[in-house]
Amino acid sequence: MEPSKGRKPHLYTYMETVLQTGRLAHAYLFLGPAGAGKGELANLVAKYLFCQDENRPCGHCINCIRIDHGHHPDVLRLKPDGQSIKIDQVREIQHLFARRAHEGGWRVLIIEEADRLTLQGANSLLKFVEEPEERILIFFLARSREKVLPTIRSRCQELIFPPPSPRQLKERLAQAYGDQAAAVAAQLTSDLEEANQLCQAEWFAELQEIVLQLIEACFLDKTEAFFLIEQRWLKVAKEREQIDVGLDLMLFWYRDLIYLTMGLEDKVVYRDHKKRLAEQAKKLNQDQLVAAMQHVLEAKRKLGAHVHPQLLLEELVLQMKEDVHCIK
Ligand SMILES: [Zn+2]
Repeated sequence: MEPSKGRKPHLYTYMETVLQTGRLAHAYLFLGPAGAGKGELANLVAKYLFCQDENRPCGHCINCIRIDHGHHPDVLRLKPDGQSIKIDQVREIQHLFARRAHEGGWRVLIIEEADRLTLQGANSLLKFVEEPEERILIFFLARSREKVLPTIRSRCQELIFPPPSPRQLKERLAQAYGDQAAAVAAQLTSDLEEANQLCQAEWFAELQEIVLQLIEACFLDKTEAFFLIEQRWLKVAKEREQIDVGLDLMLFWYRDLIYLTMGLEDKVVYRDHKKRLAEQAKKLNQDQLVAAMQHVLEAKRKLGAHVHPQLLLEELVLQMKEDVHCIK
């Protein structure tokens, strides 16, 4: 079984061995963040079971194609309808499973976001897991073990998927959102879905711009910094989590400047702003940049300690101005 580019080969090798030696369990719990490859591996196993080619899974026979498109009658999928996977959805699946397999062999159920099963839904599924028929295979895919009901957990074999590396995440995001947005988002989370949400959020795009203007205002010692905080930043991103993201965006800028002063240009996150970075890098030394980063980190700590956001940001701006204007 060949994973798509950049995946974790050992889990694929493990499942392949399990399939080849006929030691497949009836139920698996795949744990890991979005983008870690849980769905892809479940899909590959399903294809392995149904593939018509000698070299399984081939990826191009009728069964492989039907599974890839979600059209195989014996490979069913369950995912949240709204906030949760409800009992009615589970009943519908059970109804479908009650009849014989279309193609006389395996039946596979892939449950996405299994941590969102309602208690009734999970209890109803237990029958499948506890008294599995010969050729039924269930995959529970979830982000965190804690949110999966213990009754499900205890009956599954668990596989832990490591998060995608920032580089893998960046590659996947770059196609949809461009290099810079991908690079920034991949620094903020290792979860593909969260990264997607960030890249699609208007506040995130605006905040990136505001943060860069704010840093520029500090660098040029302009008074508009306070206006930017009050009239723009706190209007588009006033929740603590969003402010925390804004502070991270600042850190990335100063880190980029440090990378530039060290000649590590390929590590730069704000690649669309290399000219502006280069200008600032010429005028600032590493001590100044480290001091600015320390002040941003201090602000992050204070944010966690519930200091008022506007006060915190204004104080930070004053410190940053001082950091970049004092000769150290
Ligand atoms: Zn095939």
